[in-house]
Amino acid sequence: MIVKLKTFRFKNDSLSNWVYKGSNKEVLFMNPDGLPDAPYKVLKSINYVKKKLVLDMNIRAHIATESYSSRFNALITKNHQVYFILITSPLINLLDDNEMNFVIGHEIGHAIFNHLDYTKTADTTLDNIKSQCAEISADRIGFASVDDINIAASALHKLKYGIRYSQNKIDIKKLTDHINDPESGYSTTHPIDSLRLESIIRFSMSKKYREYTGDPRYIFEDDGLENYIYENIKKQIY
Ligand SMILES: [Zn+2]
Repeated sequence: MIVKLKTFRFKNDSLSNWVYKGSNKEVLFMNPDGLPDAPYKVLKSINYVKKKLVLDMNIRAHIATESYSSRFNALITKNHQVYFILITSPLINLLDDNEMNFVIGHEIGHAIFNHLDYTKTADTTLDNIKSQCAEISADRIGFASVDDINIAASALHKLKYGIRYSQNKIDIKKLTDHINDPESGYSTTHPIDSLRLESIIRFSMSKKYREYTGDPRYIFEDDGLENYIYENIKKQIY
């Protein structure tokens, strides 16, 4: 199944200009040694995603150290062929089981697309574009893990508002309105939430995803979809 999932890669998520570190090496963004084991809720989610996507991967999970800027954070790192998902306690508490599956699926997506085997270059602008493209790919695996737009939307909504999520009712229009998104217009490593959600919604109706689910009907041709998203990422960075 992993072969099919690899076809979900966002067209502009090309690794060709990144620096290859080697696929069988230690690629630790954060050392998991000594970090407490993640609770059952996270392990259950990893098993759910592995089963849903038919994946044979060695994945462990630990609680990540949080900081003010990354209270709600999850990342994936690896040591040779063992993957480690590190996730902060506030994020574990924030997400329900379904939303957790989306977030875990997203992190596993980074492993599926070999993002971990590469490191950045010295060109920040280029790196930010590449990083955002990698996020679009990873979101597609997150979406395939839940196969439900509402779950993807509520996970992104919670990631956006954190503990204030309950005061902000989910508003799909607001969540996908990247022209009026107050956070748009500056370069970051992650696409703005509005573009992330819009990309997922369109991907759910794409030829590629519909073929994967065995549904011959689709709305978006893959190439048109990829170009549209890429244009919006570039608009955000430049
Ligand atoms: Zn990511």
